[in-house]
Amino acid sequence: MIITLKKDASRIQVEAITGKIRELGFSPHITHGKELTTIGVIGENAIVTKDIFMAMDGVESITPISKPYKLVSREFKKEDTVISIGGGVSIGGREIVVMAGPCSIDTRERLLSTAEAVKAAGAKILRGGAFKPRTSPYSFQGHGEKGLKLLAEARKHTGLPVITEVMNVNDVEMVEEYADVIQIGARNIQNFDLLKAVGKAKKPVLLKRGLASTIQEWLMSAEYIVTNGNPRVILCERGIRTFETSTRFTMDLNAIPVVRHLSHLPIIVDPSHGVGIREFIAPLAKASVAVGADGLIIEVHPKPEEALSDGPQSLLPEQFARLMDELRLVAGAVGRTM
Ligand code: PEP
Ligand code: MN
Repeated sequence: MIITLKKDASRIQVEAITGKIRELGFSPHITHGKELTTIGVIGENAIVTKDIFMAMDGVESITPISKPYKLVSREFKKEDTVISIGGGVSIGGREIVVMAGPCSIDTRERLLSTAEAVKAAGAKILRGGAFKPRTSPYSFQGHGEKGLKLLAEARKHTGLPVITEVMNVNDVEMVEEYADVIQIGARNIQNFDLLKAVGKAKKPVLLKRGLASTIQEWLMSAEYIVTNGNPRVILCERGIRTFETSTRFTMDLNAIPVVRHLSHLPIIVDPSHGVGIREFIAPLAKASVAVGADGLIIEVHPKPEEALSDGPQSLLPEQFARLMDELRLVAGAVGRTM
């Protein structure tokens, strides 16, 4: 439930309220909005304690949160959340933020040249996988920490913040050390121990939608991260599995306006995995911006035929640069900057 405070509530009254929340075994989450200050009371069946808080000084009103996810819901927080990444980049504001780079980190030279190229085209964050969740155990599994070191070198070289995936609870600390944004892949969306672990991390988390997750399940996974202490969650629609087999997955563009309605968290789109075919990435990227995505994550590789994973869906650097020019026009048409 949400406690809305009276405009003139004193610090002592607020402390009494948060003290009572803790005493009853719940956790208080204070939000200072433009007009009002609210305190979320989070925990199982918090609403049964409503009368206790209603009787306390400084309390204006109490509203239940009807959804099974609380902290990430629009009911809990009306204003859009803007997440600052570092290096002057933030996601969820007016600016469309594009992350780009190879699916898997391969050689140092290729990573550095791709990083330079995507930066020159206007990407704000460099992507690159070091731990790869591959469907076949015989496919390339990623360079691990060696890859993370290369990514850190590319950041030093270009100044671009970097995003990379963590697959295992035991690797969270290491990945957090190298990454500016920690990626949770589609296949780990219900790895609840991993969600709890990145909830304790100090870096923002990009949470991909699962191959077959409903929007509600996805938002509950985001809730795991936020309620464990990390409010900086960026959602990423990456296509879902349907009966259609012409493309790798089916882009659920419905999800963007629906998630914006249900949650205050920023949402970006990954058309590379969503479509899986190079020539269809650009139209879906443009459509994503048009329907309200806050950003994109796109795979780019200078020699896709030699990429260690996802070559067929990787754009060449020059194709990526052309797409960025087109995206600027779409962004402008929907009142965003790029
Ligand atoms: C990736 O970003 O390379 C990736 C494996 O994505 P997903 O988890 O969406 O399949
Ligand atoms: Mn990939």
